Amino acid sequence: MTAIASLIPATLIPGDGIGPEITDAVVRILEAVGAPFAWDVQEGGMAAIAKSGDPLPAPLLDSIRRTRLALKGPLTTPVGGGFRSVNVRLREEFKLYANVRPARTLIPGGRYDNIDLVLIRENLEGLYVGFEHYIPIDGDPQAAAISSGVNTRAGSRRIAEFAFDYAVKNGRKKVTIVHKANVLKALTGIFLNTAQEVAKAYAGRVAADERIVDACAMQLVLDPWQFDMIVTTNLFGDILSDEIAGLVGGLGMAPGANIGDGAAIFEAVHGSAPDIAGKGIANPLALLLAGCMMLDHVGRNDLANRIRKAVDQVLCDDKVRTGDLGGKATTGEVADAIIRRLR
Ligand code: NAD
Repeated sequence: MTAIASLIPATLIPGDGIGPEITDAVVRILEAVGAPFAWDVQEGGMAAIAKSGDPLPAPLLDSIRRTRLALKGPLTTPVGGGFRSVNVRLREEFKLYANVRPARTLIPGGRYDNIDLVLIRENLEGLYVGFEHYIPIDGDPQAAAISSGVNTRAGSRRIAEFAFDYAVKNGRKKVTIVHKANVLKALTGIFLNTAQEVAKAYAGRVAADERIVDACAMQLVLDPWQFDMIVTTNLFGDILSDEIAGLVGGLGMAPGANIGDGAAIFEAVHGSAPDIAGKGIANPLALLLAGCMMLDHVGRNDLANRIRKAVDQVLCDDKVRTGDLGGKATTGEVADAIIRRLR
């Protein structure tokens, strides 16, 4: 087999704002470690709107349909103008039902040391289905607002199995099922009951417990080390995953993966950061760690772990850091330092 034949086709979306700068840095680092991706670069976001009127144009979607694998820079969702969130559209289009958000302390000495947590969020159901309407009363057309959430037994089973499988594959010890079944007895009760059934099938291999979401939010601040993995519904996962990112220094270092049976899209959790775009000072680590998750996904955790180790060395030994981490390095200097450590 030739080297070319063994490459894995993958879609690369540099995206908006700081997207192209951090994508350049990440691609250089992935090349330095010999990552086996053959990139199909696709335009999305504002540049695509200017050309085709759609932030997710047909060539981009066709590319992901073909490669079923993408690394995505942040995409700006224009405010107003009738555009739906590009991220919600991508999740629905490719049925990316699992959102994986790992958080690990990268720089010791912060408020919380030794954090190593993975949150798995259901990505397609719950209150995100967007079944909403207003009820007019006494001449006020928007006197009351109604929103319906939908959780299914099949969707709950699928995300719970994903979480427990992830635990087995990644040597994790415990999954905490997070819900609000004391109040939302049907909507989150179905999720809790189904996830508990799934947990029984993994007994002896992965421990399981459960928490009500409000108690979980408090315990994450008081004693985050009691948690190993969390699996939860869409809206609770959205909120708790940002809380967990805050435990390890914010969104600038938080990677995320959106995974379905037919496709997987990896991205930084942060947005396009228009305030610093074009200045060459953005932190490339969140997108780089998303690239590491992509390497894990294709079975190359050897390469992912080499990059993670180089990141640790650059942050902690070389102390090369971008401004958001209190340093002075540019995006390119961080990439150069990581590549030096990889040699
Ligand atoms: P943001 O994450 O872009 O920025 C918030 C703050 O964090 C800013 O001060 C920014 O400078 C800083 N920041 C973000 N990433 C950084 C990095 N890598 N290095 C250094 N600093 C960084 O959030 P926002 O300003 O609310 O959103 C801007 C745009 O991004 C919006 O159009 C929004 O829709 C979009 N967005 C996209 C995604 C995505 O594509 N996944 C996610 C969130 C927001």
